Amino acid sequence: MAKSLKPKSLCKLSRHEIEEHFADLARLTHSSQYLCTKCARSAQDKKWLCKPQKAR
Ligand SMILES: [Zn+2]
Repeated sequence: MAKSLKPKSLCKLSRHEIEEHFADLARLTHSSQYLCTKCARSAQDKKWLCKPQKAR
């Protein structure tokens, strides 16, 4: 069974973990409102990112 994602972890995911959590990531990012200003990753909620900034 896949482990669940942790807060602030989107920025730290390895390619392997991205594949493992792909369905969750699709759900968390498809209506993204925050961008990470350090990593350029995005998420629906700022809790997933290390340096979140509201994008819209
Ligand atoms: Zn980040």
